[in-house]
Amino acid sequence: MPLYETVVGLEIHVELATASKVFCGCSTAFGGGQNTRACPVCMGLPGALPALNRQAVEYAVRAGLALNCSITKNAVFDRKHYFYPDLPKAFQISQLYLPLCVDGWVEVSGKRIRIREIHMEEDAGKLSHDPWTDVSLVDFNRCGAPLIEIVTQPDIRSAEEAVEAVRKIRAALSMLGVSDCKMQEGSLRVDVNLSVRPMGSDELGTRAEMKNINSLRSIGRAVTAETARQIEQIELGKPIIQQTRRWDDSKGASSAMRSKEDALDYRYFPEPDLAPLSLSDEWIAERRAALPELPEQKRKRYPVEFGLSAYDTDILVSEKALCELFERTAALCGRPKDAANWIMGEVLAALKDRGEPPDQLRLPPEALARIITLQSDGVVNRNGARRALTAVMSGEAEDVDGYVTANQLAMVGDESALAGIVRQVMESDADSVAAYRAGKEKAFGRLMGQAMKALRGKGDPGRLKELLTEALGEG
Ligand code: ADP
Ligand code: MG
Ligand code: ZN
Repeated sequence: MPLYETVVGLEIHVELATASKVFCGCSTAFGGGQNTRACPVCMGLPGALPALNRQAVEYAVRAGLALNCSITKNAVFDRKHYFYPDLPKAFQISQLYLPLCVDGWVEVSGKRIRIREIHMEEDAGKLSHDPWTDVSLVDFNRCGAPLIEIVTQPDIRSAEEAVEAVRKIRAALSMLGVSDCKMQEGSLRVDVNLSVRPMGSDELGTRAEMKNINSLRSIGRAVTAETARQIEQIELGKPIIQQTRRWDDSKGASSAMRSKEDALDYRYFPEPDLAPLSLSDEWIAERRAALPELPEQKRKRYPVEFGLSAYDTDILVSEKALCELFERTAALCGRPKDAANWIMGEVLAALKDRGEPPDQLRLPPEALARIITLQSDGVVNRNGARRALTAVMSGEAEDVDGYVTANQLAMVGDESALAGIVRQVMESDADSVAAYRAGKEKAFGRLMGQAMKALRGKGDPGRLKELLTEALGEG
């Protein structure tokens, strides 16, 4: 059997986080009754005219700049025709000939995956099929929601690279704030195009496309399973058919959905109701200058500036909420390593326990910084710090110092209090004192244990040990 190589290109649809839709003023907010956020433009009623949302163009341009694309100053919108009940106009406004952003790239394990283009388009509505009544209902609320579609070149060679490419793109977009990028809610959906070819060949094989995969894990599984399926077909002497396939994550397999249309079938033509864009060099330059620091830059900066490991850095920069928390906490308490350790450990574990994604993090950097400071100053021990963190994250406590006081988490550092406890323990366990003085070293541990217990774990163990040693020596 010859060795085969997997070839993958991705199409990533991303819902932009604008307040209103791309061609009308309807709200993009979730909720509200079905068909309450749909106007004649959304529904393509005769005579309705689209008006382009400026913010959507700006978001798409920011995405393009962040992904190293050139911006097409005179980008044009086109009509893509197809009939489906969730698309009442029977065409989608998209971009074919002159997309807004072209020729970008994203770096994946030291290699550049080229981005062919990023174009703007509108989303369709939602169908729900009721198996009991055999009726299908359509909700037009999502019609006209602003989307960008990011199309890579077929440069990806493995499941790992595919997952990494999506992770990197998602991290960049989420840092820009142009989308909430929630895969599980469909604001970022991935189509995987895949073919195989004999290793060493530079011709492309026939591809299959798996649509709307909605988690990173499923992307990896889909690439692996589809590669195996295609190799098996070829080995059996069967042709690979160019088709759209549905990925079923519970079965871990894809099944044929329909044969794939070619661009010709959509009878694309320029949208006559929208003028071509006319973006100035100055406007684009201003957008470029206003980009925030991107994950790639943070990835290089964190290890150098803060001494973080590549692993920790990677996790922090992949989530906007985490790297914001990290940077602000580190600045407030001046202890970046501690900040990273707390986030990587306790904070992520608490989120996991609560089943919450990082963007729902309820932990002000001021609170985390205060907890870190209190612990490093020896005011609370690790356990007390952990309790304060849990209380803040669950909403039980707002003010760290108030919580520490109310729950008596502060360590007993006061010399006379510690000395008092030592005296008390030595009086109540005279046997251990005698044993220790008779040379039984073990008895020391027993006395220490009782003293710590009396302090409810809040004594400075080092100081306590010194005081106890001293007192035992005096006998
Ligand atoms: P269409 O618009 O018909 O979906 P495109 O040419 O726009 O086709 O390509 C869509 C995606 O498929 C791109 O990400 C591209 O890199 C990828 N692709 C195209 N041909 C192949 C192939 N033979 N194998 C794997 N991926 C491919
Ligand atoms: Mg396509
Ligand atoms: Zn509308």
